[in-house]
Order: sequence, then structure tokens, then C-alpha cells
Amino acid sequence: MATPYDIVIRNASILDGTGAPAFEASVGLRGDRLARVGDIAERGATELDARGMSLAPGFIDVHSHDDWAVFLQPEMDFKVMQGVTTDIVGNCGMGAAPNPSAAVIFRALHGHDANVPEWSDYAGYLRALDANPPSLNVAVLAGHGSLRLAAMGNANRAPSAEEMAAMRGWLRDAIEAGAVGLSTGLIYEPGRWANTQEIIELAREMRGSGALYASHMRNEANHLLDAIGETIRIGEEAGVAVQISHHKASGEENWGMVRESIRMIEEARAKGLDVTADQYPYTSGSTILAAVIQNGGLDEGGARGGIGAIAPERILIASLPSHPQWEGKRLNELAAEMDLGALEAARKIVRDDPGTLVILDLMNEDDVRTVMAHPSTMIGSDGLAMGGKPHPRLYGTFPRVIGHYARDRGVMPIEEAVHRMTAMAAEKFHLRDRGVIREGAFADLVIFDAKTIIDVGTYADPRRYPAGISHVFVNGTAVVRDGKHIGARPGRAIRRSNS
Ligand SMILES: [Zn+2]
Repeated sequence: MATPYDIVIRNASILDGTGAPAFEASVGLRGDRLARVGDIAERGATELDARGMSLAPGFIDVHSHDDWAVFLQPEMDFKVMQGVTTDIVGNCGMGAAPNPSAAVIFRALHGHDANVPEWSDYAGYLRALDANPPSLNVAVLAGHGSLRLAAMGNANRAPSAEEMAAMRGWLRDAIEAGAVGLSTGLIYEPGRWANTQEIIELAREMRGSGALYASHMRNEANHLLDAIGETIRIGEEAGVAVQISHHKASGEENWGMVRESIRMIEEARAKGLDVTADQYPYTSGSTILAAVIQNGGLDEGGARGGIGAIAPERILIASLPSHPQWEGKRLNELAAEMDLGALEAARKIVRDDPGTLVILDLMNEDDVRTVMAHPSTMIGSDGLAMGGKPHPRLYGTFPRVIGHYARDRGVMPIEEAVHRMTAMAAEKFHLRDRGVIREGAFADLVIFDAKTIIDVGTYADPRRYPAGISHVFVNGTAVVRDGKHIGARPGRAIRRSNS
């Protein structure tokens, strides 16, 4: 008789994604699913002995910006090699449709010589993934900035009735096509021109669909708490779940404020609102230099913008295709070389290269741990797959949470860390049969050594694969085997489930 299993993985310590204590069992894969979890007498067509290793659901990166990267670099090595099997793209208001206007964001991220995408709307985006699958699964958020850009350009005013109707229509279509929600980026142009009411009205389109509202909030510095209040209010008045993006307090004078923002999240949850957050496990953030200028981060006398005030020595140039020799330098060094003030130097850099990416030293280690320890926090890399020296979170987020924060620093048990990056994320974003090891679920899996898993990239040398991950399976197919990406591309477009 033919074996009922394509692959049997034996003797692994199973972290099933629910947060339950690890248990030893075998799993049998058939096609794209887990056919059996428990004792398995039959041999599989392929046998894998995972003694001494942990087996977990593949990690879900709830905060990614890989909308176009999944086509430009379909093997997605920087994510898959850290155990990520599903990417949620379209965060911070920056969505891949409608086109042609979304191509503005595409070019800022990936350069002017990259080929313009061929889809017009989100349904087309998901179909393009069906036709050109990457190595991992992709779910998509519709980006408010992209909708607004398409409806009214970069206008700093409220939308007219027609413009609002256009945005609502595109969002409705996106949600019908299977998008998992709407994202905003309220420090970025054009998202920052939107008032609260505009977003409530838009988000109402999603009521009852299971799609959620994810926000890079208007302020993560002096007015963090106002921004948390606005975000919760939008969810409450629109009647949708809320995801607070990269929860943090920026700038030394605001450190410690996350205790208060967490208290607000707890209050909202106690009222029955579905409010959660995500986080990347570093004290430095990363964004485009243009946003730092637009938010007054370099203004004299202290900034009042959404990022807070940032000293030029805390700004590291990460990616600047027109002047790669500047990558890895700090803004104060460059300003001195140019014989300019920091703000003037930044303006000159952005004139040459509008998509210049920087790494910002903004946060406090205690705050990072406080946010991570809280049960409302999921994990999202916020990685930007651009050239140069990207923030090491692009390569190391998930192993860093498990190895550095859970195992070495004891911020939470390893079962809990895995839960936050798997089942909790799948449930919140309505990804059916993902994020959990149980019979019938999709076989998105990662095998790692809990004793050695760790990120190894640094700010100076970020493009390094993490240690301790041996195998990654996506929809039942091996993508990483014995620590090597083998080039398989079994990923799928995931459409939101209504249950
Ligand atoms: Zn963001």
C-alpha cells in the first residue's frame, strides 16, 4: 500500500502556536496540509528526524512592506530564511493599488528603473500572485495613502464627496477581493492630510467583513497617547478591529510612555473592542528621510511632529542608490562633509534621492521589552527590502524575538513568543487554517533549534541569515532544507476568510 504521507517529521518538540506547552509528536504531511499530528506508524515518502529540534507553525509577519518585493525577489530569502511563511503586505498606508498612482510608492521603494506593476486593483494584485507565486504566502492590506493619492493626489484638504466615493469604492472592491483590511500611514504624505472623520468613514466600509484597521499612527512621540486615542476611536466608530502598527514611544523625552499607551489598549479591550498591536524587536526604527523632514524631526527648538525630535547623530543613512558611498554614515558626518546644517544636508540628500532610507535611533530598551511582554503585541518586521544596508529587522526579527528576547532575556516563554507570531496573528487577520499545528491545517512549518536560534545581522552588516533554522515548509513544500533556500515557490495569495 502506498504511504498516506508525503513527508513525516518525527521526534520534534512541537510548539503548536496556541501557546500550549511544547509536546513531543510526529506530524504527517499530505499535499498542502497536516494530515496527522501524533504517533505515526507508517513511513512517509520522505522521512525527517527532528530530534532535539522545535517544530512550530511558520511565522506570520503581520507588518511587512513586501508588496512589490514578492515579485521582484520572489524567493524572499530575507523572510523565508528567518522562518516566515506568510507576509502581510500593504502596511502604513502604502498599498500596491490602485495603479498607476501606487507606482509612485513602488518607485520610491524600488527605484525608477524597476518595471511598473501590471495590475490595476487589489483583485488584480492577488491574481498576479496566483500567477507568479513567491516562496511564501501573501495577504494584503489596502493602503489608505494609495487610495487617497489615486482619488486626489497629494492635496492637503478633506476629500470632496466624489473623491470620498472613489476611495470607498476601491476599498470595497479590495475587501471583496479578499484584502485583510485597510492601513493608514498618518505621518506620511498624503495620509497625513486625512482627518479622523475621513478614516472612520472609509473604515466603515469594512464593518461586518472581518477586515481590520491597521495604523501607523499620526504621532509616536509627544502625542502618542492622543494618537492611540484616535486609532481606538476609529475602530470603535467604524465597528472594525484595530491593529496598532509598530507600537513604540519615540524620543528620549517620551520614553516610558508605553506604559500609558498599553493601559489605553487594555481599557479598550476591557470594553470589548478588538485592539492589538505589533512590534519589531529593536530600539531603532527605519523610514524614509523625507518623512523625518516633513514631520519636523530636524527643526530647531524641538519637533512637534509624529516622529519627535531626532539629533542628526541618531540618523544613519541606510539606502541611497544615487550615493552608495554615503550608506552607513550618520547625518551629522554628511552634513559636516557638505558644510551644511543637518536639515539643509537632509534636504539636499532627499532632492537627489527621494526614497533615501534611514535608520533612526529612537527607542528605549525597557520600552521594547514592556511592549513585547504585553499580550496585545504581535510581531511584525516592518522590514524594507531596498538596496544598501537595510535595518537588520528585515533579516532577523523573528529569530531575535525567540532567541534574544524569549530565551536569553526571559521576556516571555518561548511558547508564548511563537503564539504571538503564529496563531494570534492568523486569528486577527482571518487567515483560515494557518498559524497552528493541528490536523487539517496548512502545512506552513518551521523547524529550529531553540538552543541556538538567533539573529546575526548588525547595522553595519545587516544582510545575514539567522542561525538555528533548519527547515521551512510552505503549503507542504520544503523551501528551506538543511539551512539552505532551495528555490521552491509554493506560496499563495491568501484571501481573508469570513469566519
Ligand atoms: Zn510604519
